[in-house]
Amino acid sequence: MDLAKLAEAIAKKIAKKVKQENFKKFGEYVGMGADGTETAYIDKVAEDVAIRMIGEKANMLSEEAGFIDNGKEYTLVIDPIDGTKNAINGIPFYGVSIAIGKERLSDVEYGIVVNIPTGDVYKARKDGGAYLNGRKIKVEDKPVYCLSLGKSGNEKTWGMAKQGTVRAMGAAAVEMCLVASGAASLYFMPRDVLRVTDLAASTLIVREAGGFVYDAHGSSLDMPLNLEKRSGVIAASNPNIVGELI
Ligand SMILES: [Mg+2]
Repeated sequence: MDLAKLAEAIAKKIAKKVKQENFKKFGEYVGMGADGTETAYIDKVAEDVAIRMIGEKANMLSEEAGFIDNGKEYTLVIDPIDGTKNAINGIPFYGVSIAIGKERLSDVEYGIVVNIPTGDVYKARKDGGAYLNGRKIKVEDKPVYCLSLGKSGNEKTWGMAKQGTVRAMGAAAVEMCLVASGAASLYFMPRDVLRVTDLAASTLIVREAGGFVYDAHGSSLDMPLNLEKRSGVIAASNPNIVGELI
């Protein structure tokens, strides 16, 4: 089985499994993750699907389990649930994100993000374009912005919030996919809080859709495939907006 097919099978299985569960249980804490935050029941259920399905076919880097080294060339970089807080609260905007890479974000070859409540599937292969439900997608310039406005916002996001149609959805990977599909032209998280597991698939999807992905300081985003580094992100249809945000 090729790894892209495996990644897609895992993402779809997680989406199906999570939909079968009662969301009232999602928020129960079931232990401590490798990233040092508490693991919610929903994260555990989703991650266990990935661990079981990967077996020893690849290495795995995931939010709760950390790095599982099976001595393979490729690593599946997984955020089993992107937008855990939404899932826990019953807000239907969260997803699963899986990328395939070797050492760094810049060598990621494949990415898939599934919006679990809607079932929308965003996919990209390096140099192969980006797709939503099998249809090719492209970024669009329009005054619709996904911004981080809560505790992780800052003056720049609050400033941007006055300039257009604004959404703050709380699931970075899925929001970045909205930029890729042309639903929004910007996703902006100004603080260094995101791990490579959150960003690996969606960064490729945005770039393959013709968009641009930077860290919050305006450098082209790149990160090693480990849980140590955290970053902000600007995902945009157009590089011209970046100057305003850094
Ligand atoms: Mg997560």
